[in-house]
Order: sequence, then C-alpha cells, then structure tokens
Amino acid sequence: MASATLERAERFIAHTYKRIPLVFTRGSGASLWDETGRRYTDFVAGIAVCNLGHAHPRIVRALGEQAELLWHVSNLYYTRPQIELAAWLVEHSFADRVFFCNSGAEANEAAIKLARKYFKDKGEPGRYRIVSMELSFHGRTMATLSATGQEKVKHGFDPLLEGFDFVPFGDVEALRRAIGKQTAAVLLEPIQGEGGVRRPEPGYLAAVRALCDEAGVLLLFDEIQTGMGRTGTLFAYEQFGVTPDIMTLAKALANGLPMGAMLAREEIAAAFGPGAHASTFGGTPIVSAAALEVCRILGEGEILAHARKVSAHFRARLEALQARHPLVEEVRGLGLLLGLKLAVDGEPFVQGCREAGFLINCVQGNVLRFVPPLLIAAEEIDALIACLDGLFERAEREKRS
Ligand SMILES: *Cc1c(COP(=O)(O)O)cnc(C)c1O
Repeated sequence: MASATLERAERFIAHTYKRIPLVFTRGSGASLWDETGRRYTDFVAGIAVCNLGHAHPRIVRALGEQAELLWHVSNLYYTRPQIELAAWLVEHSFADRVFFCNSGAEANEAAIKLARKYFKDKGEPGRYRIVSMELSFHGRTMATLSATGQEKVKHGFDPLLEGFDFVPFGDVEALRRAIGKQTAAVLLEPIQGEGGVRRPEPGYLAAVRALCDEAGVLLLFDEIQTGMGRTGTLFAYEQFGVTPDIMTLAKALANGLPMGAMLAREEIAAAFGPGAHASTFGGTPIVSAAALEVCRILGEGEILAHARKVSAHFRARLEALQARHPLVEEVRGLGLLLGLKLAVDGEPFVQGCREAGFLINCVQGNVLRFVPPLLIAAEEIDALIACLDGLFERAEREKRS
C-alpha cells in the first residue's frame, strides 16, 4: 500500500480521482498484473474501453507498423488510416460522415454544436435546446456537464450552459411534454452506464424516435459506453431497432488510445462546413490505425458472437445469485454491460472482489458493474461468481448475527 510509487503519486498528481492503491504494470487479454506481480481478472476493462482486452497482438502489430511510418500531420491534410476508419464506420452504421476527436466529452460536445448549427443553417435559430435524461452522463466539459443529469458531477461549476432540459429516463409522457418549439435534439444513452446500468423498457427508444420525428427534432445517441460491441452488437441501437440522427463513440473505439467520433447522416453533417469545428489530434494516423484494427477484428464477427454467448452465461449466473441472496435486488444490462443492483452499499464487495483478484466497480453507490473485455472466458466469469457468492453469503451471515 505505502509503496514508494504510491507516495510519489500522492505528491505529484492532482487529486481528482478517488483511486484504489494499485499500480499496474502489464496486461494481457482479461488479465492485469500489478507491480508486486499479482494477477487480477479485469471486469472493468478501463471502464468499458479495452473491449478487445489488454495488449491484443493484432492491435499491437498495427500500432507498431504505423508508429514507424507516421504519427501526426494535422487535419490540414489527409492520411490513409483516418480515411479507412471513417469509411469502415460509415459502412457499418446508419451514418454518412464521421468527425474524429479525442474523447467522449469532445464527441458529445461536437454533437451538441452540430445540432445547434443544423437548425441555425435551416433558418430556425430559436431551436437550440437539448432534452437530456436524468441520471445521464455525457462528460465533464462545460457543455457536456450541462447535458449531464447528475447533480453530483455539476456541483460547484455554476453557471452552466443554458439550453438543457431534463426528463426521467424511460418516461415517454414527460419527454412529450418537454419537447417544444425551441427543442433541437433529444440526447440519450440507449442504456445508461454511469447512471446505474439502466436499460429502458421495450418500446421506449422507438417511442422516443417517433416523438422526435413528429416534432422535427434530432435524436442523438451517446454510444460512448454501449458502442463497439459492448452490448453484443457493434452498436446498441441495432438491437433496439431504432436509428439515431447523430451518434457519438469514444471509450472502446481505439481500445485504450484516446479517440472519440461523432457520426451523422449527410443532411445533418452538412452543417459542419470548413472551419465550423476542429480538433488538432482528431483522427491522427497513429490512433486511427489502432482503431481501424479494432474495427476489423470486431467486423470479423467471432468476438461479437463470443460476447453474446458468454453474456447469456454471465446473466444466468447473476440471476442465480439473485435467487440465492436477498441482498441482490436486480440483474441489469445487455451484452457485456451488466449490473447487479444491491439492497446495500456496493463498495465492500468491490473491495472483497479485489482482495480475491477480481476487478469490478460500482456505480450509483449500489450497482456493481461488470464490463469485462469481450473475450472474457466463461471460466473467468464462473470464478468471479463464486467469489461474489461467498462475499454475499458472509455479508448476510454478518447481518443476521
Ligand atoms: C465515459 C462516457 C462519456 C465521457 O467520455 P470521456 O472520454 O471521459 O470524456 C460520455 N458519455 C458516456 C455514456 C460515457 O460512458
């Protein structure tokens, strides 16, 4: 715990994170090793980032090859990896054009700007408001914080950006009332990640799409956490049968290198003409080469098929835990974005798992979240379940005595 490394971390790094005192040095697949050489099975994957696991040999090779060729030239010019990555994303989604940036917040920032610009260009400058969801998370920049439906992350940063309205996630009638003449777009995560792994009732997203169409309002899906195979398909919207007008990606796009993307239909993307928006590092060839390899691997289909299979297994095991333990209230999520809502604080279980060699995390205080690499093995899931089973049993025994 009080290693020399941790002392230095404490002294020199800004205290913006409540960190666990572990220093990781190496990863492979779904395994991580800390500086003492201890191995952990990783059910966090850098918060749904390393969807293809750590040090995937094909991504390592693609990155190495690009590293020897070219890292960066700016968006004054073209590079092949960026072009090929954009083409791949367009060919595998509803979208016609892609804008590249470096993070989720930056992708959502672009989406918010594009929605406003689209209506300005159409001669409807009064349409600038965005309807967003309670408990949503869209990032930490001023605009994306303004779009986020959680007070705890907004606290202390007033005044936020004007023009955001909030409704409960899953409430069609509240959304109908909130959409008005000034509304430009509805922004939501198809499944709320940070908000507690909340998946909407069947039909909700289709109803949202219908409301947007009726009112001539754009539909923005934040697939930063749900995208890139996390839910068992390339993008979550495919499973809900609902197509957005704009979609944002980041987290797993380059499997751990910083990259964000905003995808849009042609008519909307046209509002971003030369000079309208930019990012120095956006789509740089080195990061694009890694992302392109991620896309190619996912495009081959085996990993998605594995993710769906292993997700069904994981879910069944979580449901068995729920049946055995009164403190487990609900199994949540889709694909390998899974959650276990507890009747009690989740932190002791995060710690208990860590002591047993499993990394998990907790959102909203009492929802254990599991977002392992998509290549996680059924045996690794079974080992985690056995660990949780023991921890829940002990907690229930302690509560009784
Ligand atoms: C993580 C996340 C973001 C923010 O991404 P950053 O890269 O941290 O800016 C936005 N939206 C969702 C749904 C996320 O999960």
